[in-house]
Amino acid sequence: MEGLMQDYELSLQHVLWRIERLHQKREVVTKRDEGIHRTTYGEMVPRINRLAGALKRMGVKPGDRVATLAWNNNRHLELYYAVPCMGAVLHTLNLRLFPQHLEFIINDAEDKVLFVDQSLLPLLKPLVGKIPSIKTVVLMGDGAPAQMAKSDNGLADMLDYEKLLAAETESYPWPKLSERMAAAMCYTSGTTGNPKGVVYSHRSQFIHTMGVLQGDNLGLTENDALLPVVPMFHANSWGLPYAAGMAGTKIVFPGRFSADAKSIVELAEQEEVTFLAGVPTVWIGLANYMKENGKRLPKVRTVVCGGSAVPQALMEAMDNLGLRILHAWGMTETSPLGSVARVAAGTKPEAEMRLRLTQGRVAPGVEIRISDPASGEELAWDGVAFGEIQVRGPWIARGYHNGYDADKLTEDGWFRTGDVAKISPDGYIQIVDRTKDVIKSGGEWISSVELENAVMAHPKILEAAVIGLPHPKWDERPVVYAVPRPEFKGQVTQDELIDFLRDKVAKWWLPDEVRFIDEVPKTSVGKFDKKVLRASAVPITAEVTEEVRK
Ligand code: ADP
Repeated sequence: MEGLMQDYELSLQHVLWRIERLHQKREVVTKRDEGIHRTTYGEMVPRINRLAGALKRMGVKPGDRVATLAWNNNRHLELYYAVPCMGAVLHTLNLRLFPQHLEFIINDAEDKVLFVDQSLLPLLKPLVGKIPSIKTVVLMGDGAPAQMAKSDNGLADMLDYEKLLAAETESYPWPKLSERMAAAMCYTSGTTGNPKGVVYSHRSQFIHTMGVLQGDNLGLTENDALLPVVPMFHANSWGLPYAAGMAGTKIVFPGRFSADAKSIVELAEQEEVTFLAGVPTVWIGLANYMKENGKRLPKVRTVVCGGSAVPQALMEAMDNLGLRILHAWGMTETSPLGSVARVAAGTKPEAEMRLRLTQGRVAPGVEIRISDPASGEELAWDGVAFGEIQVRGPWIARGYHNGYDADKLTEDGWFRTGDVAKISPDGYIQIVDRTKDVIKSGGEWISSVELENAVMAHPKILEAAVIGLPHPKWDERPVVYAVPRPEFKGQVTQDELIDFLRDKVAKWWLPDEVRFIDEVPKTSVGKFDKKVLRASAVPITAEVTEEVRK
């Protein structure tokens, strides 16, 4: 017997329908160079329709890739709606990538049109002549419409965003879409290798949006004001733009000021922001700034933090400022929401911090297992055994664009994440490391993440990254790269740090060396870039003493 429910195609057109019918008055605020730009969902809808008309006039067909090179701003949001809803595929480019990576990605995706913020135009210079699939470049100027002719840029026809919109009508006949059509593409940020294209479908985006909104997940509501520091090019901005549209949440975009703690705090204050989202390095900077300047953000109820593990020192520093971090785990390939560390009411305070620091429990809609790297067998959820996280569900990738890394899917259809974790009997995931970062010492594993967190708990340390360096006897040994807090520069020693770690980690985990640096190199999305550290690392000088292993 078949169910008698409608075959309603799950598509992002539904989110567009909601912002048009239900959320017209909700504000969309952007910090721009010349000041604050203020609009509403209601005012945006005719512009989205015009934009779709312009795309059609440019010859964009269903399935064509439309790239964006843009900050978090209102025009980028317009593109988030117009491109997928007219049947094309939104491809958000990471503006912090090296030119050769951008070139690779644009060619791999075969983008046809490129929308670029004026301030990012210089990024295109090195690509001239190297991205032949791009037929049209649309400039999103901050001031007067840009007057650029083809000859000025050598790339393609250069059109002005506002002029294009002005030439179209305020309505657009949205086509009927199939839910399995591609809606968006996002490349992995390449923390551990070459970027690979993840292709989201309308269906996956729709279901992911519903998932993000659940109270036990991120739980965004129409009473919130969201400030996504996480870029709109990083894993879909964690699905927050569509979740905000679905719920009717006010959005406050930081524009190109996302790396500036002072701007974020001011914007959050002025716009009465309740909900922040970003990677740990953003909050390390923000907590430091707020502490130094005696700032508080009493309206903020949630700070979603993911992308890498949240150090305990950061969680506590934010707690002390009245900012509650909600720790989430995911990756580009998981749309990205995978798990969230919510803690049930009534949990004892001493257990609460421990649970908040885990990557939490898997999101409803996703299934998870951990698998032994050698045998491939599923491991028990006993809080001890650790293996690779594998996931499956309606918003989990089943492959990459152009078929790269076909073995990322197990034979029985689970996605191999490359993250190593243990899971407690009640389902809390504790990521031990990435398979590529874990330090293999004497046949055993040392978690670089746990060591980093232990080092960052030292009051004189601001940031620390740990890598494994080759060692003749033990295969690899841990080396710490630590950044002292500005006021303690030159006043913290290797011995002091190693002593500090003695009662926190196993003896054989103690690092062989601590190297002090001014800043930990960051990836294009603000994670510690261990690839860079490894590439430039001088070999371990101190012999590992037998004492360390005893
Ligand atoms: P990239 O793989 O290039 O860094 P992503 O942004 O998709 O691109 O990163 C996903 C990865 O980030 C995960 O596989 C995991 O290793 C790491 N990660 C994300 N969230 C967390 C978290 N809360 N704790 C620990 N690691 C995390």
